[in-house]
Amino acid sequence: MKIAEIYRSIQGEGVLTGAESIFIRASGCNLRCWFCDTPYASWYPEGDDYSVNEIMERVSVWECRHVVLTGGEPMLFAELIPLCNRLRAENYHITIETAGTLFLPVECDLMSISPKTNNSAPDATDHPRWHRRHERSRFAPHVIRQLLNSYHCQVKFVVDHESDLEEIDEYLRQFPTMTPSQIYLMPQGRTPDELHQTEIWLKPLCHQLGYHFCPRKQIEWFGAAKGT
Ligand code: SF4
Repeated sequence: MKIAEIYRSIQGEGVLTGAESIFIRASGCNLRCWFCDTPYASWYPEGDDYSVNEIMERVSVWECRHVVLTGGEPMLFAELIPLCNRLRAENYHITIETAGTLFLPVECDLMSISPKTNNSAPDATDHPRWHRRHERSRFAPHVIRQLLNSYHCQVKFVVDHESDLEEIDEYLRQFPTMTPSQIYLMPQGRTPDELHQTEIWLKPLCHQLGYHFCPRKQIEWFGAAKGT
């Protein structure tokens, strides 16, 4: 499994915000969001191949019990299945961060789905091939249903403009089993200032709609830096 980085930090998003966690970042993604904050695991995948044993050795260095499998798109890698089996056998709490376009039957305590909406597509002129592929792949309703039926899920949307809310609304209507308490709306942005500009109008809207506002604390705490 190609790994871009393994590090210990603090979960900055979603229901486990604040939990000390070990992050295992798989390198490689089937999408190409223009705003991707980990291009070294998507647009320009870096890293080395690690076996499950090698990953477990790295993880066991820390005391921490929360493990987050992220990317890139970790669900691209079939080795995720034996890796999650090992983590489960050793009593780690497992979170998987996925865009929800691929399914693997993995052991997992929290499936953290971040669906990619219309606002994520890469520029059609600069990246025509990736634009087509991204638009073809980013929404896979049968996968979302399978994830919702199989796991405890939270669903995080990146919001750039107020008009994105209409699309999110339409999206959620297709999955009536999702409850507002599972929904997190995160501002798009790579700096605290950019995030704040969106927070001003998005936070009150979240309260009104019964969703969680998700402030992406890791950017506030560490900036958009690798290994955080
Ligand atoms: S799905 Fe995630 S990792 Fe892949 S390109 Fe989009 S933001 Fe980056």
